[in-house]
Amino acid sequence: MEMFGQNVFNQAVMRERLPKAVFKTLKKTIDEGLPLDPSIADVVATAMKEWAVERGATHFTHWFQPMTGITAEKHDSFLSPAEGGALMEFSGKELVKGEPDASSFPSGGLRATFEARGYTAWDCTSPAFLREEAGVVTLCIPTAFCSYTGEVLDKKTPLLRSMQALSTQALRVLRLFGNTTATRVISTVGAEQEYFLIDKSFYEKRPDLMMAGRTLFGAMSSKGQELEDHYFGTIKERVLAYMKEVNEELWKLGVTAKTQHNEVAPGQFEIAPIFENTNIATDHNQMVMETLKKVATRHGLVCLLHEKPFAGVNGSGKHNNWSMSSNDGQNLLEPGHTPHDNAQFLTFLMATIKAVDTYAGLLRATCASAGNDHRLGANEAPPAIMSIFLGDQLAEILDQIVAGAEKSSTKAGEMKVGVSTLPALPMDATDRNRTSPFAFTGNKFELRMLGSSFSISGPNIVINTIIAEVLKGFADKLEKSKNFDADLEKLLQETAKKHQRVVFNGNNYSDEWVQEAKKRGLLNIPNTPEAQKQLITKEAVAVFAAHNVFSEKEIHARYEIVIEQYVKTLNIEALTMIDMANHSIIPAAVEYATIVASSINAVSAVSAKLNVSTQQGLLEELCDKLAATSAGVKALEAALEAALAIADLEEQAAAFRAEVYTKMQDLRNNADGLEKVIAAKYWPLPTYREMLFQL
Ligand code: ADP
Ligand code: MG
Repeated sequence: MEMFGQNVFNQAVMRERLPKAVFKTLKKTIDEGLPLDPSIADVVATAMKEWAVERGATHFTHWFQPMTGITAEKHDSFLSPAEGGALMEFSGKELVKGEPDASSFPSGGLRATFEARGYTAWDCTSPAFLREEAGVVTLCIPTAFCSYTGEVLDKKTPLLRSMQALSTQALRVLRLFGNTTATRVISTVGAEQEYFLIDKSFYEKRPDLMMAGRTLFGAMSSKGQELEDHYFGTIKERVLAYMKEVNEELWKLGVTAKTQHNEVAPGQFEIAPIFENTNIATDHNQMVMETLKKVATRHGLVCLLHEKPFAGVNGSGKHNNWSMSSNDGQNLLEPGHTPHDNAQFLTFLMATIKAVDTYAGLLRATCASAGNDHRLGANEAPPAIMSIFLGDQLAEILDQIVAGAEKSSTKAGEMKVGVSTLPALPMDATDRNRTSPFAFTGNKFELRMLGSSFSISGPNIVINTIIAEVLKGFADKLEKSKNFDADLEKLLQETAKKHQRVVFNGNNYSDEWVQEAKKRGLLNIPNTPEAQKQLITKEAVAVFAAHNVFSEKEIHARYEIVIEQYVKTLNIEALTMIDMANHSIIPAAVEYATIVASSINAVSAVSAKLNVSTQQGLLEELCDKLAATSAGVKALEAALEAALAIADLEEQAAAFRAEVYTKMQDLRNNADGLEKVIAAKYWPLPTYREMLFQL
C-alpha cells in the first residue's frame, strides 16, 4: 500500500501541496474536462518541482507519444544559474508547453523538416510521475504533441478528442433517459498485455530478434504448445522473481498491475491491470511495455513484445476491454437490475453493435500491422473478420427486438423494450467465447484484435469516435420524439434488424464462419496494405471530421505513416534475412558439407568396402538444400530491389506483401530445412528448443 503511487504526482499529493483554490481549479479540469486555467501553471509547476526534487529528481521531461507507437522524451535539468551558484527552477511555462526539436518523427508530410517545429502541451488529466533508472530520477510530464500549425502528430491528442466526442453524445442519450446528474462520460479500458521472455544470451546470438523483434528463421522444436501444459501452469521461480519486480515498479508508478499468468505458448506470459480512464490506461500501457522490457534486462532476460516472435506457436496480442461510464457512477454497458437501466443498457449496446458493423473496416485497419498480419487472418486468434459475440441471452433478446414482439426470454421473463416494462437482466448474461474479435463479457466489450506491441490509442480512438457517431444519430432522432417509449422501441428494432448480421456466437476459427460471413457481406481483409485503405474511405474521413478527431489532412497523413511503417518493417526483415543467410546459415552449411565430404573420403580411404551411404545421402541433401537456400537469397534480393524501385507508396506496400514477403517465406522454408540436417554444433543460431524451453 505504501508503494502504490509513490512516484506519482496524483490528486492526493496535489491536495496536500497545492493552495486550496488552485487544487480546486485543477481538479475541475481533470474531473470535468473544463479548459485549463493557465494562471495556475506557475503554482503547480513549483509544487511539482519541489515534490520531485525531494525525491532526488534533477531533470524533467515532456513525455509524449509520437507516431512511432512508443514514447519519446527529451530531458532538461531544473538547473538555473543564480548569483555565482545555481537554483533548481521549473516554471509554469515549462510545465505547460515544450518545444522539442522534433524534426525526425514520422509526420506523414504534415511537417517538412525545414519547418520542424513541434510542440508538446501538458495533459493535466494524466498525472506526472517520476522515473528512476540508473540512479537518475526524472520528472515525466504526460503531454500531447502537435505541429506548429496545430495538426496532431501524436497518439494522445486524437484520443482525447475522441473521448470528448463520446462524452458529448453519450450525455445527450443519458438525458433522454432522465439522467440529470451525470456531467461527463468517459470510456474505460483494461488492457491485457501478452509477452514472451527468453534468456538474454540467446537473444544476443539472434540478429533477427535484435533487428526485427521476431525469429525470421528457425525450425520448430519437437514440442510446442500442443500439450497445453504451459497455459496457466505453475510460474517458474525465475519468471516469478521477474514479475515481482515488474509489479513493484508499476505499483510505484500508480499502475494497478493485478493479474499475471503463463500464456498458451511456451515462454509466453500475460499481465493485466485494473481498468481505468482510457487516456490514463493508454499512458499506463506504455509504461507497462517499457517496464516489462527494462526489468527483463536486470534478470538476464529479454522481453519480446512482437506479435509473432516464433512461428508454430501462438503469437502475442493485447485484449482491449472497453466500456463507458458516467461520472455519476454508472457503467453504461452494465445490464443492470431495473427495467429503466435495461432500456438504457440496450440502447448503448445497440449503439455499439451498429457502430462496429458500420465501421468494421476502420476497426480492422486500426489493428493492422506487419507484425499483426501473422495473427489476424492467419489461423490464429482472432480472425480478420470483425464480428460481435453477445452470448446466448443477449442474442435471444436481440432476436426478440428484431421480431418486435412481446416475447418472453427463457432466461429473463417478460421482455419488452419499453422503459417501464422490462424485467431485470440477470448478471453474467454471457458465457465465455475465446474466438470472437469483439466479445461482450458481462459489462464490457473485449476487442481482441490488437497486437501486443501496439499503442492502445489507435483502436480506442476508433471505438470512441464510431460509437459517438451512432449515439449522435440516436440522440438527434429521439430528442425530437413525442412518444419516447414507442420511438425508442422502433429505433432499437430498426437498428437490430439492420446490424444483427455482425453478431456471431459460434466458433470464429471455423471455415464455415468464413463462408457465412461472406454471405452476410462482412469484410474479411487479409493483410495490412489492404486493411489500411479503410482509414481513408469517404465514410471514415467523414466520421473523424464530424467529431473533430482527425481532419482529412490528418487522417491522410496517418495513412501514409502506417503504410510507410509497413514497408520499412518488411524491408528490415528482408535485409536481416539476407544478412543471416549469407553470413551465418550458408557458411555453416558449407562447413558441415565439407566435414561430411571429408568423412566420405577418409572412411573410403580406409577400405572401399565400408558403407558410406549415410554420409553420401546426407551430403546430397545438404547440397540440395544449400543450393535452394542460396537461390532463395537471390530471389529475395531481386524482389526487394524491384519493390524498392516502386515510387507509389501504396503500390510499393502491395509489392512488399505479394513479392517480398512470399520470397521471405520461401527462403525461410529452405533454411529451416538445413537446420534440421546440420549437426547441432555446426548450427550457428540458438534453436527454438533452447529459446522457448530454457527459462
Ligand atoms: P480475461 O482474461 O478473462 O478476459 P482479465 O481479468 O485478465 O479477464 O481481464 C479483464 C480486464 O477487463 C481487466 O483489465 C479488467 O479491469 C477489465 N475491465 C473490467 N471491467 C471493465 C470496464 N467496465 N471497462 C473496461 N475494462 C474493464
Ligand atoms: Mg481477455
